[in-house]
Amino acid sequence: MNAYLRNINKIEFVVTDACCGRCRHCSQGEHPARGDGIDPALAAETVKKIAAAYAVVTVMAFGGEPLLHREAVYAIMEAARQEGVPHRQVITSGYFSKDSETIRCVVRRLADCGVNDLRLSVDAFHQEFIPAEVVKLFAAEAVKQGLPIRLQPAWLVSREDDNPYNRKTKEILGEFSAMGIPVHDGNVIFPEGNAVKFLAEYFTGEAPANPYKEDPYDVTCVSFAPNGDVLGGNVYQRDILDILDNYTPQEGRL
Ligand code: SF4
Repeated sequence: MNAYLRNINKIEFVVTDACCGRCRHCSQGEHPARGDGIDPALAAETVKKIAAAYAVVTVMAFGGEPLLHREAVYAIMEAARQEGVPHRQVITSGYFSKDSETIRCVVRRLADCGVNDLRLSVDAFHQEFIPAEVVKLFAAEAVKQGLPIRLQPAWLVSREDDNPYNRKTKEILGEFSAMGIPVHDGNVIFPEGNAVKFLAEYFTGEAPANPYKEDPYDVTCVSFAPNGDVLGGNVYQRDILDILDNYTPQEGRL
């Protein structure tokens, strides 16, 4: 086994860059409203190969908005379930359709493919551009169908800091909590992407570090870009196990 990857325990997919949000805290910056994503069959095959070789405990799908490219989400989660990966997580803004029948079907497919930790990003930043009423349709359907769902807010400066964004976030969380949905700790916004452009005034002291940065000498998470890029290789061009076997920290783009 590649010594730099001996502690791999997680696989994550940025399923697509597409997103209808325009969040001013988004660490990824601008997004196209529509676009392609990772191939569902290739992503599923990749999950199976990694899970067979490493002690993977979490498979996560996010974006962009992953449910704009939901066939890949279903395929990834189904593969994770078949491989016995215990923690199967999707992070979504809940905004991919305004049609209640489509929303109902998507929730059913998410439940059927084995998602057991649905994280719904709701806060002052998401709801500046994403209509809360549509997201509530999705959240209510998840509750109704018994899909495990939690709220995942983004906090500015800290969870405790008293600023207009955090105050608005608490108000929004209250509305969703009233639907019986628990609140996860969420995350503190770090200065990357749009946050640097639009929230610079809040990063005057010691700014929060990006918690998702990996140590290239001890990689724990295999992260795929929508175009298949991963650890200095690309799964459309090379087998994932070949990429992992030949990874070196110099080649890794973490
Ligand atoms: S934070 Fe999420 S919902 Fe908002 S623009 Fe970025 S990817 Fe889209």
